[in-house]
Amino acid sequence: MIYTGGTIGMMKNSETGALENFNFEKLLEYIPEIKEFNLNIHTIAFAPPIDSSDISPDSWCELVKIIYSNYKQYDGFVILHGTDTMAFTASALSFMLEGLMKPVILTGSQLPIGALRTDGKENLLTAIEIAAAKNDDGTPIVPEVCIFFHEKLMRGNRTTKVSAENFDAFKSNNYPLLAHSGIELQFFKNNIRAYNPDAVLTPHYKMDPNIVIFSLFPGIQPCTIEKILKEKDIKGVIFRTFGSGNAPQKEWLVDALTNASKSGKIIVNITQCSTGSVRMDLYETGQQLLKSNIISGYDSTVEASLTKLMFLLGEGRNPNEIRHYMNSSIAGEVTI
Ligand code: ASP
Repeated sequence: MIYTGGTIGMMKNSETGALENFNFEKLLEYIPEIKEFNLNIHTIAFAPPIDSSDISPDSWCELVKIIYSNYKQYDGFVILHGTDTMAFTASALSFMLEGLMKPVILTGSQLPIGALRTDGKENLLTAIEIAAAKNDDGTPIVPEVCIFFHEKLMRGNRTTKVSAENFDAFKSNNYPLLAHSGIELQFFKNNIRAYNPDAVLTPHYKMDPNIVIFSLFPGIQPCTIEKILKEKDIKGVIFRTFGSGNAPQKEWLVDALTNASKSGKIIVNITQCSTGSVRMDLYETGQQLLKSNIISGYDSTVEASLTKLMFLLGEGRNPNEIRHYMNSSIAGEVTI
């Protein structure tokens, strides 16, 4: 169990009223039930624990290092993480842990573990149960990176935080659930990545953060887009368009995108809608984007397309290779 921080392990500062992290031992005091599992659970904590708004590619590397160096000794990993950026971390890990064949389950909570009505207890206990779950032949039931939150087990790189107030805080809009925890813990095995006994875990540590997420809006001005696309340090843009991947029919926009693609920048078209996929061939307003050579992100989430691009750029892939990998599923992040 790896504790990174987040609300699950926070307490109210009596002077400021703000929630602050407390240490892991204290967190465990609130869940004596953990001992009742007949499992050997070892814990590692980030020092100091961090609010997930402070998570960065360096934190992802630290997680990859911990998992890689402990991979053989353990059947599965549970990561306690703040909810705010949990979907980014889950997406990043799904790319950085190539060949993963053991469960890596991220969870957290909306209320601190010390709060009477906390959702942290049930989230943590079920995440542990899932990380330890095996098929009859001894293989793990869930050999992939997931988020477990409020009764739902979701593929990590398909998940988005959708609520800042409900216990049901995450959604996997374009991919079905991997498991549901009610009276029984029910796995939907057809939706879970197949176990491959020959896969070898290969860790990756380089993520290139020189990317922008840009959302289109009616009234967008040429200078805004051009400033971003001409910035030399920016290597990629996650371009959030309307509906099925559409943009205003403006010559300056198509020109700016075409020139940026020609200069080697990677522009990925994803939709602002929470469900559905980009289909640039459907409308004239999308077809013009096809001509400007931008890449479809299909039905991927912002979190998955951003971290996939960080990963591919970090690996030093050239624009053609990136186009190829963006048009395929590396870790189940996209439906093609
Ligand atoms: N700010 C917290 C975090 O993401 C919120 C949470 O854990 O729910 O670290």
